[in-house]
Amino acid sequence: MGESQATVECTTHGAQPEAFLCKHLMGTLDTGTAIGFHWSSASTSETPDAWCNTCEEARVKAGGEWTEEAMETVGVKLICATCYRRAKRIWLDARTADGLGAL
Ligand SMILES: [Zn+2]
Ligand SMILES: [Zn+2]
Repeated sequence: MGESQATVECTTHGAQPEAFLCKHLMGTLDTGTAIGFHWSSASTSETPDAWCNTCEEARVKAGGEWTEEAMETVGVKLICATCYRRAKRIWLDARTADGLGAL
């Protein structure tokens, strides 16, 4: 309550709540190709920081920790919440098309 949500000025959507994606997921907004979508189940955010399969592999390799090296793979990008949902939708649609959630 009374917590101020940081906003970002999106060139497409105007002032929007902030969200964070890995650089690869950011790229899917251009390519429309699903590359996985991972987030922390511990997060209560509507738009939890999300990362792709490549980043997840890097994290697992680092023993499940966000080490400096793993974070370098992520290359976290600030994005607007609406763009974030679009990236998530690309992944959801691919999952649906695939039948199983193996992406
Ligand atoms: Zn990634
Ligand atoms: Zn946007």
